[in-house]
Amino acid sequence: MRYISTRGKAPELSFEEAMLTGLARDGGLYVPATVPVMSRGDIAALAGLPYEEIAFRVMRPFVEGSFTDQEFADIIARAYDGFGHDARAPLVQLGPNHFLLELFHGPTLAFKDFAMQLIGQLFQSALAKRGERVTIVGATSGDTGSAAIEAFRGLEAVDVFIMYPHGRVSDVQRRQMTTPDESNVHALAVHGDFDDCQARLKDMFNDFEFRDRVNLAGVNSINWGRVLAQVVYYFSAATALGAPHRSVSFTVPTGNFGDIFAGYIARQMGLPIDRLVIATNQNDILHRTLQTGAYSTRGVTPSISPSMDIQVSSNFERVLFDAYGRDGNAVAQVMDELKNSGEFTISQGAINMLRETFQSGRASEQETMATIKDMLARTGEVLCPHSAVAVKVAEEHLGDEPMITLATAHPAKFPAAVEEACGIHPPLPARMGDLFARKERFTEVDNHLAALTKLISDRISS
Ligand SMILES: *Cc1c(COP(=O)(O)O)cnc(C)c1O
Repeated sequence: MRYISTRGKAPELSFEEAMLTGLARDGGLYVPATVPVMSRGDIAALAGLPYEEIAFRVMRPFVEGSFTDQEFADIIARAYDGFGHDARAPLVQLGPNHFLLELFHGPTLAFKDFAMQLIGQLFQSALAKRGERVTIVGATSGDTGSAAIEAFRGLEAVDVFIMYPHGRVSDVQRRQMTTPDESNVHALAVHGDFDDCQARLKDMFNDFEFRDRVNLAGVNSINWGRVLAQVVYYFSAATALGAPHRSVSFTVPTGNFGDIFAGYIARQMGLPIDRLVIATNQNDILHRTLQTGAYSTRGVTPSISPSMDIQVSSNFERVLFDAYGRDGNAVAQVMDELKNSGEFTISQGAINMLRETFQSGRASEQETMATIKDMLARTGEVLCPHSAVAVKVAEEHLGDEPMITLATAHPAKFPAAVEEACGIHPPLPARMGDLFARKERFTEVDNHLAALTKLISDRISS
């Protein structure tokens, strides 16, 4: 399987190379040159299999040439071993034809574990074979950093440094990053805000001497390996509810567009998905784009579903590439326009494709809170705010086929908002109950590139 850039000017790469590279050198994102199609029979055969077996069958063609069958099966087994639910991604029924796909049973209680845990094992296996080491550096406002640390802790070929804004992440999020005691984990409390952390990360990638010397790697949401891991649960959920013999629909709480793009890939692979519904919070740029045909950024207004507070949705470029008939020049042009003016108008042909492919809706803060309260009363389910955004939008799109709404985080990750909405303070699962008793370990750093690169260099050489 070969991977090509959405901007058409970077070299074609193997799966392994695309994963280790992250962003393409022409500024684009890697996508498969062709999407493999599964036959109806192959899809039907997935029903009832363990999650790991479905993962193997769905992802196998995408990693062709990079891992043997045995290596890949072992990677998957290690990735999902630490989940707190045997089904990995269990379904819960919310209504006659509405189901919740619980994606929050991983080690950090958010769906990002599905991708990060797999990426961790893929990196370790690929690097061990090459006899190489990498330094992974990430910036986080909370969730991504803890998922990355959980995924890379204790892996020999990797040092992982996560920058977070000192004093500005929740207690649960901070403790998830500061309590792992493996020596390859480095939690950096930066004296600045999240934007400062992101800016310093960008500076590091632009400091080519440093970048090459420490073998810098990124695992942010544009990494193709992360998207691929998320394709699997669309298959496990749909086949559990009768696919391919009947079609299903999905509603996905969306920020950087990675998760819903995985659903789009599943549909291209032959999974009968009727509707793919994008759910946004008050930061509704994706919903507005589908309605107006113009992608136009505004400031971000902080919400109770912070992991969806975005204005530039990085993975949206992948679907634009298809919408523009896989014309890399056209994509490069609109991305330039976005960078220079903060907006661009989507061509008529491309917007038609997007409107045929996706539906969308938004939930205000009030509607999100009301949905948490209402779902508790109607079903006994306590939703996190991100999942509540999606449930609200899904209910506006119910049809004859089963609707599957993705629940992306455990309510205990956002206890204040949940308690305000429904009066229940959601407890952490028992397996994480000692989080507040564990010893913390982190390093405070000034918001300066030189201070950060020195600290990282010293740590990896010691
Ligand atoms: C990251 C995240 C999202 C958004 O996912 P994207 O792939 O960025 O669209 C939604 N909910 C939660 C809890 C998240 O952490």
